[in-house]
Amino acid sequence: IIRFDRVSKRFGDFTVLDNLDFEVQPNEKVTIIGPSGSGKSTVLRILMTLEPINDGVVYVGGDPLWHEQRGDQLTPAREAHLRRMRERLGMVFQQFNLFPHMTVRRNLTEAPRRVLGLSRAEANERAAELLELVNLGNQADKYPGQLSGGQQQRVGIARALMMRPSIMLFDEPTSALDPELVGEVLKVIRQLADTHDLTMLMVTHEMHFARQISDRVCFFDQGRILEQGPPEEIFSAPREARTREFLHAVL
Ligand code: ATP
Ligand code: MG
Repeated sequence: IIRFDRVSKRFGDFTVLDNLDFEVQPNEKVTIIGPSGSGKSTVLRILMTLEPINDGVVYVGGDPLWHEQRGDQLTPAREAHLRRMRERLGMVFQQFNLFPHMTVRRNLTEAPRRVLGLSRAEANERAAELLELVNLGNQADKYPGQLSGGQQQRVGIARALMMRPSIMLFDEPTSALDPELVGEVLKVIRQLADTHDLTMLMVTHEMHFARQISDRVCFFDQGRILEQGPPEEIFSAPREARTREFLHAVL
């Protein structure tokens, strides 16, 4: 459902992704781990079309993402294509990125009403369902500032689900949280993985969690996948010295 085909991404002279080949199957739960600066966030940002690439092709749901946009010009057709592609994905960021001046409900309903043309009633109903799912059924009228970090992040997850994406991307969803709030967010993500037909691609430093939830763990190093496999294998018997070194440092 996701495929990177020899993708390179550079910032000036610096190569962030180096001829990356990477695939995620429908419904697969994949975790990306690796040192700071190894290109983990860049992979997610490319999928969200927040970053262009320099070489290769990225496919989402079988369709090439950057295919028709090698030039710099953002034509209306290209913009529409990108918008449709983006609707297949929901992303949860490290910083919650909620709109502070909107209630929780508005934070959820704004985009689907505007983009999908849902009526107010439809959007509110969907929001209520998803807030229930993230255990925030009674917080719809609050403003983000009135919620804890863990609650805000759960709103972030509900918001990403509002567009009914088939793929969910998480970029260190708990690393901005106080330790005592991490568990409630991980619990919601785990529940989501267990109950929904969702493809999940997640960057996390929560190794215990990664072990529980992932079908596959990918260790990124300098813009490449150095090693990948089932969590038992990567965490218990890594083949590469770099992987062992990294796991020693974080575990
Ligand atoms: P972390 O664990 O710290 O979040 P990461 O693996 O997510 O790291 P990326 O955010 O993908 O790393 O960034 C990879 C490299 O690209 C970093 O060295 C970063 O400094 C560089 N980089 C990212 N965005 C830009 C940008 N807009 N301009 C220049 N360099 C950038
Ligand atoms: Mg990052």
